[in-house]
Amino acid sequence: MYKKILVPIDILEDELSQELITHIEQIAKVGKPEIHFLTVIPNAELFFGIEFAAIPEKFKDSSERTRLAFIALEDMIKDAKIPDEQIVCNVGVGNAKDEILEYARQIDADLIAIASHRPNVSSYLLGSTASSIVRHAQMSVLVIR
Ligand code: ADP
Repeated sequence: MYKKILVPIDILEDELSQELITHIEQIAKVGKPEIHFLTVIPNAELFFGIEFAAIPEKFKDSSERTRLAFIALEDMIKDAKIPDEQIVCNVGVGNAKDEILEYARQIDADLIAIASHRPNVSSYLLGSTASSIVRHAQMSVLVIR
């Protein structure tokens, strides 16, 4: 029985994320696990793709982007049939796979549930984020297809 399940959500992939959430609704019924939904947004350097020093000061601050990502994440899971007291939402800033693995370690998750890849990127068996997580996670990983 799982106690803490980490569900990384890409807020730019609505359809894919909804599929993932549908699976989680079922798993969430067994033993009342905590379900941690985490979305990761790029830091300013990754976001703008230019030399950091050249970025105007106000855009370096990721708090506004974090706030908006949090709202988008909450909106994505608002219809999920999972009791509120089981849900935790969080936003990470940086590289998706690193943030996901670090968050999983911090909460001592016993499962990470991810989708395999974006539907339009069919040439890959596993997306790059998904494959890094499968390879490096110290806990079980459920890949949903
Ligand atoms: P692709 O390479 O096709 O984009 P990914 O491996 O990046 O596929 O995505 C697979 C899964 O990884 C997603 O369904 C999601 O669970 C997770 N993921 C990818 N990017 C992010 C992100 N920025 N924040 C949270 N989770 C993410």
